Amino acid sequence: MSLEIFPQAELVLRRAGPPRRYDNTMRVLFHQCQRKFYWWKIRKVDYLIRPSYFSWGSAWHIIKGHWYSHPDSKAEPFSPEWKNAALEALTIGLAFWDNSGAIESKLDTRDNLIRLWKAYILSYPTENWKLVKGGAELGWLWSLPRQGGQVSPYFLGGSMDGYIDWEDLGLMVLEEKTTGIWLSDFFMMQWKFSSQITGYIWYLTQLLGEVGGALINTVTKQNVAAAKTGITPQFARQIETRSEDDLFEFEHDWRRDIEAIERSWDRWHWPKTTDTINCTGGIGKSPCPYKGLCLSGLPPSLVDPLAFPNLTYREEKWEPWKRSPEERARGKPFALPSCGKPRLLRQKNKPHTKETPS
Ligand code: SF4
Repeated sequence: MSLEIFPQAELVLRRAGPPRRYDNTMRVLFHQCQRKFYWWKIRKVDYLIRPSYFSWGSAWHIIKGHWYSHPDSKAEPFSPEWKNAALEALTIGLAFWDNSGAIESKLDTRDNLIRLWKAYILSYPTENWKLVKGGAELGWLWSLPRQGGQVSPYFLGGSMDGYIDWEDLGLMVLEEKTTGIWLSDFFMMQWKFSSQITGYIWYLTQLLGEVGGALINTVTKQNVAAAKTGITPQFARQIETRSEDDLFEFEHDWRRDIEAIERSWDRWHWPKTTDTINCTGGIGKSPCPYKGLCLSGLPPSLVDPLAFPNLTYREEKWEPWKRSPEERARGKPFALPSCGKPRLLRQKNKPHTKETPS
């Protein structure tokens, strides 16, 4: 592609106008670095070969999703049916890993999937909750109302690992998390601030009226037993809740962020971050794939991403709320309604306790 083509192509992208459908990834990227949002969302520049931790995380999710959907996971622990179900889940996850094309790295390995799956089912042989039928790997899209509840042209969406019915706690979001760093109180604290988790609780509240929160089910890929530190766990669970005010604030924050994205779009100005850890990476944070583009010294409209290592153009639209054919083929019989009308978070007779700028 010749360099002269890019400014013209940019004009087309700009005229297409800002998105009306958003997910948490778009919001987080915009906050991290507007230039990154530009490369990833607008120019659709993506990894040519995705880092192996993506495939490892997907394989882990597949194992867990299959396990929780399998009726024999509720059988007597260590009975033949229970063991067969555990083996079946592992086999499906390993098949995904083997076909993913991922290159094994220190922690992202086939052996680590096997080791951790064994350790997991020994740690949690039974559960007092069950995955809601049809609630696995749930793609969702829901209208974001204007302030006051009127319909807006905007939608929030995403894809969550599922939702569960917990005997005493009610219906809850299930969120699986994998990490390469050691689990600690600091690490787990982040879920209290996570807009992704708030978004899932917001959506399920819209759908069901009331939810008990979210179960965050976390694993570190580090080998805790081998390290013999005795102070950090291999797995950690945490229940997250959000108040009605939190959800109200979440909607309002989203409206403001959409306004900010639209302002940047009008100006067609996507500044680079001032927080350089987003570029270089650091503990628990991957380096930005667009470093080379940003260091090229050229205006973005003149940069050809294909001239840089491990970058390509994403062909498909970013629509995480649509489940992939592979997910459907994994036997999820039906999905919940993925699209709905806005639900007012507050009842009419309940006074607002927060300032509500327009
Ligand atoms: S390298 Fe840094 S400035 Fe460039 S897109 Fe990535 S985070 Fe933004």
